[in-house]
Amino acid sequence: MTTVFETLESNVRSYCRAWPTVFDTARGAWLRDESGREYLDFFAGAGALNYGHNNPVLKSALLEHLSRDGITHALDMSTTAKRDLLVALRDIVLVPRGLDYKVQFPGPTGANAVEAALKLARKVTGRTAIWNFTNSFHGVSLGALAVTGNAAKRAAAGVPLAHAVPMPYDGYLGDDPAAGPAWMRRVLDDSASGLDKPAAVIVETVQGEGGVNVASGQWLRALAELCSARGILLIVDDVQMGCGRTGPFFSFETAGITPDIVVLSKSIGGYGLPMALVLLRPEWDQWAPGEHNGTFRGNNPAFVTARVALEHYWTGDGLTASTLALGERVRDALDELAARYPGVSARGRGLVHGLAFADVSVAGKVSRLAFERGLLVETSGPDDEVVKLLPPLTVTPDELGYGLTLLAEVVDEICAGSPAVTGTVRARFTGCG
Ligand SMILES: *Cc1c(COP(=O)(O)O)cnc(C)c1O
Repeated sequence: MTTVFETLESNVRSYCRAWPTVFDTARGAWLRDESGREYLDFFAGAGALNYGHNNPVLKSALLEHLSRDGITHALDMSTTAKRDLLVALRDIVLVPRGLDYKVQFPGPTGANAVEAALKLARKVTGRTAIWNFTNSFHGVSLGALAVTGNAAKRAAAGVPLAHAVPMPYDGYLGDDPAAGPAWMRRVLDDSASGLDKPAAVIVETVQGEGGVNVASGQWLRALAELCSARGILLIVDDVQMGCGRTGPFFSFETAGITPDIVVLSKSIGGYGLPMALVLLRPEWDQWAPGEHNGTFRGNNPAFVTARVALEHYWTGDGLTASTLALGERVRDALDELAARYPGVSARGRGLVHGLAFADVSVAGKVSRLAFERGLLVETSGPDDEVVKLLPPLTVTPDELGYGLTLLAEVVDEICAGSPAVTGTVRARFTGCG
C-alpha cells in the first residue's frame, strides 16, 4: 500500500511517517483515507487550511473561475482576479484597521515571502544583521533558515548561516516580560556590546513550530517601541498565526502594534492553494521593478479563493468571535488535563494551543495514539515535547468537543495507563457525513 512512497519518494518525507495511511478525500475538518477511515483534522495543513478542507464557498468560486477559463498563471501581470483581491484586501482588511500597506506578491511560499522581507529590510536600511528569536521558525531557504532556531534544520544548510542574531523570546529569560527588551535595549545602546545594529527584527507573535510560545502584548509593545525608537524595521511573520488563527485577522492586532512589514502565506490563499503576501509600509517600498520575483507569484486561482475567503469570513467579526469562543473551550479542556498530571502545561491563544509535557517522549506517543483513534495532532517545540492543536477555524462546536474528548482519553491512557481515569466513555462522533 505504501510501497511506492518508501521505495521512490525521498527520505526527506516526514508527516507521512507520523500518519502512516494514504489519504484520499477531505471536507471541512475531516480527512478520509483510501480505506474509508475518517480522521478529525486538528492539524489543518499546519495552518494552511483555516477555512477547512474543500470549503464549499471557496470551491464554487474556484470551479467557476476554472470553468470560465479565468487566468491560471500570470507572473505579476495585472489580471481581474488580482485586481479583485487587492480591492478586497484594501477594503475588508487594511482600511478598517487603519493600516497603510503596499502589497507585494512574492513566490507563493512563506519562506519566499520571508526572503523578500529580509532583503527589503537590508536594502532600505543598508544594514545586514537581522535579529530573530530563540525557537523561531521562518522557513527553510537559506535566508529564512538563518533566522530560524532549530539546530537540525539549520545544520541542513551546508553553509554558514550568517547575519542573524538570536535574541530571547518572551519567557526565555523567565517570567518578566521586560527582561528580554531590557537586554536588547542594553546591547543596542552599548557601543562596546559587540553587536551590530540590525536592519530588522523578525518575530512571530505566537511561535507555532517553536512549541506554541505566546508573546504577551506588553512584550510585543516593548519590542515595537524599541524598534521604532532605534530605526530598526519590525517584521511580523504572520505566515501561520495570521488569517484569524489567534482570533483577529492579524495576530498582532491585540497587542496594538503596527509592524513595518508583515508576511502572510499558509491560509491567505484560503483553499490551501499556494500564495504569499508581503505587506510593507509605503516608505519602505523601495524595490526596483523585478528586483525580487518568482515564476508562480501570480497564482490566480489562489487570488480568487483568497478574495472570496475575505469577503465571506472577514466582512464582520463573526469568525473572530467564534474562534475566541472555541479557543476558550480548548483552553479549558487542556487546563483540565494539565491539572490532572504533574509536568503537563497548557498554552495558546485563539485556536492555536499546545499541551506541553515535561517528559519529552509523551507528546509523540499522544500524537501516535490519537492517529490510531482517528485524530490528527502534530507535535512541536525544540524536543517535540508539545502536542499542538490547530483545528480549522470553521470546526463545529460538536467536532471540537469530540476531538477534545478523544485527546483527553489518549492523554489519560498514556499518562495514567488507563482510559478510564476521567470516567469518559470512548468518544463516538456521529455528526460527520
Ligand atoms: C510555515 C511557516 C513558514 C514557511 O512557510 P513555507 O510555505 O513552508 O515556506 C514561515 N514562517 C512561519 C511562521 C511558518 O509557520
